[in-house]
Amino acid sequence: MTGSNPVLVSGKIQSHHRDRWAVVYVRQSTLQQVARHQESTRLQYGLVDRALSLGWSRPQVRVIDDDLGKSGASAEGRPGFQRLVAAVSLEQVGIVLGLEMSRLARSCRDWHQLLEVCALFGTLIGDLDGVYDPRNYNDRLLLGLKGTMSEAELHVLKQRMLAGKRAKAERGELGMTLPMGYVRKLSGEITKDPDEQAQAVIQLVLDQFERLGTLNGVLQYLVRHQIQLPHRVASGSNQGELEWRRPNRATLSNLLHHPIYTGAYVYGRRPSDPRRQQPGRPGTGRTVAKPEACQVLLHDRLPAYISWEQFTRNLKQLEANNVKAMGPIRSGVSLLSGLLVCGRCGLRMATQYSQNGNGLRYVCSRAAVDYAEPLCQSLSGLPLDQKIGEWVLKALEPAALEVSLQVAQDIEAERQQLHRHWAQRLERAHYQVERACRQYHAVEPENRLVARTLEKQWENALVEEATLKASLSESALIKPSDCHINQTKQWLECEESRNKIVA
Ligand SMILES: [Zn+2]
Repeated sequence: MTGSNPVLVSGKIQSHHRDRWAVVYVRQSTLQQVARHQESTRLQYGLVDRALSLGWSRPQVRVIDDDLGKSGASAEGRPGFQRLVAAVSLEQVGIVLGLEMSRLARSCRDWHQLLEVCALFGTLIGDLDGVYDPRNYNDRLLLGLKGTMSEAELHVLKQRMLAGKRAKAERGELGMTLPMGYVRKLSGEITKDPDEQAQAVIQLVLDQFERLGTLNGVLQYLVRHQIQLPHRVASGSNQGELEWRRPNRATLSNLLHHPIYTGAYVYGRRPSDPRRQQPGRPGTGRTVAKPEACQVLLHDRLPAYISWEQFTRNLKQLEANNVKAMGPIRSGVSLLSGLLVCGRCGLRMATQYSQNGNGLRYVCSRAAVDYAEPLCQSLSGLPLDQKIGEWVLKALEPAALEVSLQVAQDIEAERQQLHRHWAQRLERAHYQVERACRQYHAVEPENRLVARTLEKQWENALVEEATLKASLSESALIKPSDCHINQTKQWLECEESRNKIVA
């Protein structure tokens, strides 16, 4: 216990102070600090003895330690500090004791609020160095200075830490959270996911976006073909294991917006916006910065899935999919759906089909739908489509053969990509079955408790493989002509055997 000058102290502490509580405020900002800096916590709790030595009786001493393990640069999210201020303003507190009080308040605003309230209600403030009366001009000056200094100290510390982090990031060495499709080796090197199927799915998503042009289109494609996304478990007992999760819009959007897939190293892509932050939740308020606005962007540092050109094309397309700009090509028989822009107001025109399916109109209805304004304009679609069709055919005539060949090649490539995906799924299922089988046979037969579980796992793996095989044969991946040939072959064999029997 550090003793302070009894003469200085005795003059300030009056009997009316001793009639009220002595509050000891204990705080460490993070749980790690609570665990590691136990000495500091012990020292803070030791202030109870100091209160006793200053003349308070044991029942009069209250300890506020709600804020142990709570971080936060302001009083929000720290109920203990708020409780302290409330108790002071209810005239219940004679002295507030803390270890370096000014630092505990963290921000100058909180500190000055506490000083103000303490001055108003005649509460003393004490730390290891002495006891201060906020009503006294000199003490007030000293306390204010202490607050300013500790805030400056905090600022310098933070700056130094951030500068170090930034320098490391500029060398491309600062660790970052990796999105799906990438893993970090034990050496710290970042590589593509070693699982071939995981790599292929990421490639498939990026290729399909290039082909379909919309996020929704890609999502529907994945769902239609029962393709799941590879996810590496970030923490827990299964850390690092590959899990297959159903695709969703947010994940796909993140995948398409992330520059890492071009092989770039990025830092500062998710800056936090203080206006969006929720008190007491440090991870909230994150925004996504555009690639050029990231603090550090280093090209060609990691293995890439797509080129930078394709990535910027994708971003442009995603932006263009907004209502205001030119839209993607939609399905439907009209040639110009999603492409026509109104000459009067500059908004995209919608396509309307008549109920019998013969009629077609282009309507500028955006303002009517959004703001209940009168319909801007509309025009009959069929003559327009006819004219456009003629022009397109004329323009394409020389290249027609090439185009149709290209389309055929595209379809074939897509089919092969899907086929590979299914083959990989089957291979994985088969591996699971074999593994379960090996595990089952490796266990001693007497160890029934374990054997039963393993048997069940083996059974499940077998069922999964069978289901996969069944859905593969059901799906349209096998060419109709293949089926036809197979069926014909079977029929011929049947016929042959029947003929033999008859003969
Ligand atoms: Zn219009």
